[in-house]
Amino acid sequence: MRQRMKMPERLPNERNKDFLQVNIGYTRKQMLEEAKRCLQCKKPFCVEGCPVEINIPKFIKELSDDNPAQAIKIIKQKNNLPAVCGRVCPQESQCEKYCILSRKGESVGIGNLERYSADWAAANAQKKTSPSDINKNGIKIAIIGSGPAGLTAAGDLANMGYEVTVFESLHDIGGVLRYGIPEFRLPLDVLEIEIGNLKSMGIEFILNTLVGRTKTVKELFEEDFKSIFIGTGAGLPVFLGIEGENLNHIYSANEFLVRVNLMRAFDFPNYDTPVYKGKNIVIIGGGNTAMDSARTALRLGASSVKLVYRRTENEMPARKEERLHAQEEGIEFITLTNPVKFIGDEKGFVKAVECIKMELGEPDESGRRRPKKVEGSNFGIEADMAILALGLNPNPVLPSLTEGLNTDSHGYLIIDDNYMTSIPGVFAGGDIVGGDTVIQAMGMGKQAAKRINEYLKNLHPTNN
Ligand SMILES: Cc1cc2nc3c(=O)[nH]c(=O)nc-3n(C[C@H](O)[C@H](O)[C@H](O)COP(=O)(O)OP(=O)(O)OC[C@H]3O[C@@H](n4cnc5c(N)ncnc54)[C@H](O)[C@@H]3O)c2cc1C
Ligand code: SF4
Repeated sequence: MRQRMKMPERLPNERNKDFLQVNIGYTRKQMLEEAKRCLQCKKPFCVEGCPVEINIPKFIKELSDDNPAQAIKIIKQKNNLPAVCGRVCPQESQCEKYCILSRKGESVGIGNLERYSADWAAANAQKKTSPSDINKNGIKIAIIGSGPAGLTAAGDLANMGYEVTVFESLHDIGGVLRYGIPEFRLPLDVLEIEIGNLKSMGIEFILNTLVGRTKTVKELFEEDFKSIFIGTGAGLPVFLGIEGENLNHIYSANEFLVRVNLMRAFDFPNYDTPVYKGKNIVIIGGGNTAMDSARTALRLGASSVKLVYRRTENEMPARKEERLHAQEEGIEFITLTNPVKFIGDEKGFVKAVECIKMELGEPDESGRRRPKKVEGSNFGIEADMAILALGLNPNPVLPSLTEGLNTDSHGYLIIDDNYMTSIPGVFAGGDIVGGDTVIQAMGMGKQAAKRINEYLKNLHPTNN
């Protein structure tokens, strides 16, 4: 079996100093070689592992015939954000995990081929859908939140002919794709192109509007929006609840990444957003957010970045590629370790993190072995900055301000099998209902768009 074509990437010691893209992308020759590895299975398991059900063998066949224009058309039937997904999807636990070739060797590089197709389309200025290509039905739909869930629902509904308006609380579009994931993984111009495609379909974006406070769900219905989709994501940081957590220069990953990515703090004073640039930095956590925070901190000029995680590297939720890239770039992983206390100086600034060693016990409800303290194993790590990347909880603003919108005990919106919340006509998807990847959010946005269409067709049978 031929080996998988490796994604070309920049050298670690060069890339860890700037925010330019780490992965360079396949050349045409590499794309052709990789596409030809696909066996064109009659029963393609890869598709079963794709939350938006892209016809993977079909688009790869077009690529192997050197026809990227057709490949991107096939991908776009199911996916409005292929350049994003080709860069950040955890393919190793989705489509590629199910690829038949992974049973005996390495799966086809499905994500890399998706990225090639999307980048080819961007470079070759594919004709955009324009509003006049779509038969409009005059029915207004509001989308709350412009992350991947909201953008996908918006794109699909606009394609069906609805008049779609997206409300976003921040001053820019994209959700975590813009404010969380750094540019060395997902360049802004790539995101802008995909957002531009949605705008060209006639979708309206209204920014700086916190629905719940600036305007309510009730008011949206009064403004004649016939249905609403909520994709407000998970923006509430989790804290450790230990001594010293409020010391200066301890950030939540969310605040740190929003400052650097959305508010361009790395370019202070050109941008008016300061961020402290530590020298010895400790990051706590083992997910994508932790890797992004660590790699961003390093790029801002830290001399040492240590990532503290309470289980082993095998249990880390971050994508394998991101873990590898982080280590190659010089991030030190300190596993089986948990912080117990932050120690400050006389002025209230963090100067060290006291940690304790952990060992793995019996599996917990997540199936992963539960970490237990090794009593008496405390030790200190010097740090003039710490970043907490412990996960995010559902964004509470809209549910807490909207009467009748039910959540579960963890704050996730409750939806039925039709993606409808407890308020008739209000649907939801993405992290606010418990997703945790871009493609899951998109899959839910897609399903919800379908159900909104069915719901409105039942309400307005004359539009059928
Ligand atoms: C740092 C980081 C790195 C990640 N890396 C990856 C990765 O590599 N691969 C992957 O698959 N997943 C990754 N994820 C997870 C992934 O980004 C999320 O699962 C996904 O973005 C969820 O999409 P969403 O549309 O539900 O919400 P979000 O992307 O969070 O978007 C929600 C939007 O709603 C807006 N909003 C919230 N409340 C309101 C309101 N009341 N009114 C108006 N607007 C509102 C927010 O401002 C935001 O723009 C990462 C997450 C983080 C934080
Ligand atoms: S399972 Fe793998 S080899 Fe088979 S069609 Fe899908 S990508 Fe190709």
